[in-house]
Amino acid sequence: MNAMKLTVDAMKLSLIVSQQYYSSHIETVEVLTSRITDKTLISYIVNFLSKEIPLKSLSHLKRINSKDKSIEVIICAKDYRNSELSEKVNHFLKQNHLLPFNTRVVPKNNPKNRNQYEKSCQLWPINYHPNKYLEKCLNSTVFDLISRKIIFELISKVIEFRDKEDNDRKSMVTLVTDSSHNILTICKSDVLKNPLKHSVIVAIDTIADKQCNERQKDDNIKSDSYLCNGYDFYMSGEPCIMCCMALVHSRISRLFFIDSNDSHCNDLFDCCDKAISLHEFHLLPKLNHHFEII
Ligand SMILES: [Zn+2]
Repeated sequence: MNAMKLTVDAMKLSLIVSQQYYSSHIETVEVLTSRITDKTLISYIVNFLSKEIPLKSLSHLKRINSKDKSIEVIICAKDYRNSELSEKVNHFLKQNHLLPFNTRVVPKNNPKNRNQYEKSCQLWPINYHPNKYLEKCLNSTVFDLISRKIIFELISKVIEFRDKEDNDRKSMVTLVTDSSHNILTICKSDVLKNPLKHSVIVAIDTIADKQCNERQKDDNIKSDSYLCNGYDFYMSGEPCIMCCMALVHSRISRLFFIDSNDSHCNDLFDCCDKAISLHEFHLLPKLNHHFEII
């Protein structure tokens, strides 16, 4: 999020996702195909092959290509060894005149955007189900005016809170809301007292204390849910890896941070390794929870 000029219209909200969602580049892989001469056998052949040799990682490909007035069917990936074709499959292929095979270059992955989809279709028909939410995020239309105003007000509060102290020292600030945009806490980092007290950690500690108090007062409150399930975090700058990991563990929903030259704290001990832009933390596939970063 770029908040150099503080107006709703000038505020640029960008979802931070992998570059592959923007790129038009597609990777390819080779498959073995055969021509089907008798149209009446198409569904019979497809049903048999789908059951005996499912395409698995290539399930984004349609099994049949009938583009060029001839009908071509994918038998298997090229690296699927011949020895893996069972006697039953070999017999079926011979019986239905599906030998010998041709080699075709096809898209290796499910397209991530419309450009990739169009390129992929030039090679082979694709089963494509566009992610409408993601497409809206990518073309910056996901936030309507009301949402933009709410985000703007919350991020303005973060900046106001950060700049409250009239000195050169800029601490990182974190503001937390529930899913209805109610502010649960806003706090600064406290690294002079404790180097681990980054603003995210202080915010999560505060929320934990509040929830503990509420549970002590009311036995009916469930204690098995994650600490920040569904919450949004607004930060004055980009978080470090420790804070990002804390956000993952507490299962937040979305992270908004200001991305501008003057947004980052100037304290060496306060959230200094940019976990997202330097380390691409949000792309780590092994994490068991992912949140949106805007
Ligand atoms: Zn941090």
